[in-house]
Amino acid sequence: MARAKKSEVAHAYAVRLMQHLVVPTFVIDAKRRVVIWNRACERVTGVAASEVLGTSRHWRAFYAKRRYCLADLVALGRPDKLSELYPEQHTVPDGNSFGFSAENWCVMPKLGDRLYLALDAGPIHDEDGNLIAVVETLRDMTDQKRAEMALKALAVKDGLTGLANRRCFDLALEMEWSRAQRTKKPLALLFADVDHFKLFNDQHGHQRGDECLREVAAVIGESASRPIDLAARYGGEEFAIILPETDREGACKVADRLRQAVMDLRITHDAAGAGPWVTLSVGVVAHVPGSDVGPDWFLGQADQALYAAKRLGRNRVITADAMLAAFADPERRDRDPPDLAHAARR
Ligand code: GH3
Ligand code: MG
Ligand code: MG
Repeated sequence: MARAKKSEVAHAYAVRLMQHLVVPTFVIDAKRRVVIWNRACERVTGVAASEVLGTSRHWRAFYAKRRYCLADLVALGRPDKLSELYPEQHTVPDGNSFGFSAENWCVMPKLGDRLYLALDAGPIHDEDGNLIAVVETLRDMTDQKRAEMALKALAVKDGLTGLANRRCFDLALEMEWSRAQRTKKPLALLFADVDHFKLFNDQHGHQRGDECLREVAAVIGESASRPIDLAARYGGEEFAIILPETDREGACKVADRLRQAVMDLRITHDAAGAGPWVTLSVGVVAHVPGSDVGPDWFLGQADQALYAAKRLGRNRVITADAMLAAFADPERRDRDPPDLAHAARR
């Protein structure tokens, strides 16, 4: 009798301790009914203990649709459900630990605000090894997660234009080159450069120059319209667009649409030596990658085509093969540059 009394006191003490623990914590029994929902848990979820105690509705504090919480998976002994329910992050328990750890975006219906929670759930057994409860603790990691996501985005995006940055472009080109080697489908690359941009800066100032780059970049981003396309700021006023599974003809169409769209922006240039509007020159290369050449060669081809577009008068699209044909034959180059430009602009 005295022993039973002692154990009751100990139990009440443990419950009080948990109620006031600063770590948001809830406890379910073996039948998965909530037996403790502490103050910190009320604060982080916006759900009062009275709403969940004695029920199995604890999921409602976190999710809009009925599903298992981490404590339920521990109570049910279902580690197999972890990857489906906690795709962001979870630790599969090893042989010595029975608890589960996971991280997850929770919609928090009562708060009306998503939170990224780190969760730990551990079982409590009686002296005979029977499960009597599962304790789940929560940590609000939303700020850290948002900061991490912003950092990740910064690492791949160009700060001025919001397009992919050079690093991201280099990685994507390597990847698409290997993929095209495997699939034996053509890969196309557009290399675009704003014409007479130094004169633009001199005429309108560097700040207006930055605005102009943003406007041009927005058009470039739109021209890479399929999810597999990638538009990047290569550096300064140079942009590159990777078009997987695209042949020369298709790439020329995209390039010329882009060139036209930049002219249609009607950004006043007007510096002496430049035209009335800001324009773009574009070099195009398309190739089914074999094993004889690599992405550096491919990039070089697009760059040379762009250089040819500049030499032939700017505001035009030139393909690498048209460029090669023209510059390999000096007579034709001197005789026929307009034809070359026309051929490449098909
Ligand atoms: P071309 O038609 O041959 O391309 O002539 P260009 O004047 O555009 O080429 P050049 O390479 O001589 O000059 C590029 C200019 O772009 C010089 C540089 O000041 C400007 N530029 C590069 N990056 C930025 C930037 O982020 N903002 C601004 N405002 N200007 C930039
Ligand atoms: Mg330029
Ligand atoms: Mg340039």
